[in-house]
Amino acid sequence: MSDILKDAYSAERFRQQGHQLIDQLADYLESVRREEYSRGAIDYQSPDVALHQWSEDLKTAPNPETHHLFSQALLQSVRLLHPQYLGHQISPPVPVATLAGLLGDFLNNGMGVYEMGMAGTATERLVVQTVARQLGFPEEADGFITSGGTLANLTALLSARGRMAATNVWRDGQSGQLALMVSEEAHYCVDRAVRIMGWGDAGVIKIPADDRFCMRTELLTAYYHAAKAAGVEVIAVVGSACTTATGSFDDLDAIGNFCAEHDLWFHVDGAHGAALTFSEKYAGVIKGIEKADSVAMDFHKMLLTPSITTALIYRRGEDSYRTFSQQAQYLFNREEPEWFNMAKRTFECTKLMIGFKAYSIIRTYGLALFDEYVTLVCDLGRSLAALVRANPAFALAIEPFCNIVCFRYDAPGWDEEGLNQLNESIRQTLLEEGDFYLVQTRLRGRFYLRCTITNPFTKERDLEKLLHRISALAEQKMGIKVSHEP
Ligand SMILES: *Cc1c(COP(=O)(O)O)cnc(C)c1O
Repeated sequence: MSDILKDAYSAERFRQQGHQLIDQLADYLESVRREEYSRGAIDYQSPDVALHQWSEDLKTAPNPETHHLFSQALLQSVRLLHPQYLGHQISPPVPVATLAGLLGDFLNNGMGVYEMGMAGTATERLVVQTVARQLGFPEEADGFITSGGTLANLTALLSARGRMAATNVWRDGQSGQLALMVSEEAHYCVDRAVRIMGWGDAGVIKIPADDRFCMRTELLTAYYHAAKAAGVEVIAVVGSACTTATGSFDDLDAIGNFCAEHDLWFHVDGAHGAALTFSEKYAGVIKGIEKADSVAMDFHKMLLTPSITTALIYRRGEDSYRTFSQQAQYLFNREEPEWFNMAKRTFECTKLMIGFKAYSIIRTYGLALFDEYVTLVCDLGRSLAALVRANPAFALAIEPFCNIVCFRYDAPGWDEEGLNQLNESIRQTLLEEGDFYLVQTRLRGRFYLRCTITNPFTKERDLEKLLHRISALAEQKMGIKVSHEP
């Protein structure tokens, strides 16, 4: 073995670097817990500056030092654990699950066939069964863990096509016009899945949303009949639980009843909000999810698991074997479906032990941790909404359903365009200051600041500080603008 290979696999160096990294991360975690962390949620750098810095770093190669390497990456990443991180919908992972992830990376078992990931395959199945039971699915429910909500939604819709379409698209290719119905507010990946499947513009029938950005389910019947009359074969309805921009939950019960009545596949895009099933307090928000044929649920968003870990659960387990053929292989072969050879059902061939990360949490803390966490962040969503409502300088987009809250500074007498620019400029300044990290969205043409409260260390006090800072920035910016006017 060459020296360089020997060196790369040095057990001693791995031990030393590993200890050092865990210490770095634990120090950071401890400083956050003690509220002694001196930096903000983000140290923003422009793409060019970041690229330049890392180009300089790469010039030191070969360089066995990792302390600086890892602390640079830590500094130049958004810090989800920071109590003033209020940005995208991704949770700070529970440390034990990141260790499970490290183990999975180290083992690098391929998981496509059973023997290339025995522990990963068995633990994944137990996670799937736990979720299925929690959702209220029958005994025959089954599924798997896959790489993200986007892929899970596409996979589920392919299964739906395999079961519901009148022709065998898998074998014969596309003929006729297939379509699904979904809220106009749904995540863009549903639209994208439709186009990947070759259904085109006519394949996605967008149902208008109401004032709270929920699907107007009372319109489903009319849209369905209009599509049928135009020769379109509608095979599915996708419910959003919840929408990404505003965290709005469609009436899953109503969609479930509609699908049962018209023999349609009911898929729930629960990437963010299916996790509410674990909260005793908030589970009622997703009532009707138990009627779904398939549910996608991200563990990396609301369930404290490192990315990307998404459960895709089918109410009839056999449907999970239909994705990549019209009639499942096992029906041809008259063999039992092999739950343990995952690649028959997943897009992935090689797949890391992603289910093991979720398993490590359930095994260490039980489902009680999910209940507490989901309930806490949804409660904080309500607290932020209450603070916004109590301040006349702010306007709430909608009363939040969960931990996603959209609002904006609302200066009296300003026109829409002025308000949009003001809020956009506030969000840009907040990003550059870096104390807080939140994001933005446009709702029916209006610019809103968007928070997802996802960090168990966030306190109501942090939310008050945020509103305070926004007010100060708004006044400052309005002052400048007014003084510039002739
Ligand atoms: C985040 C999200 C997705 C995409 O999931 P990824 O895991 O990021 O691929 C899809 N749908 C909804 C409703 C989401 O919130």
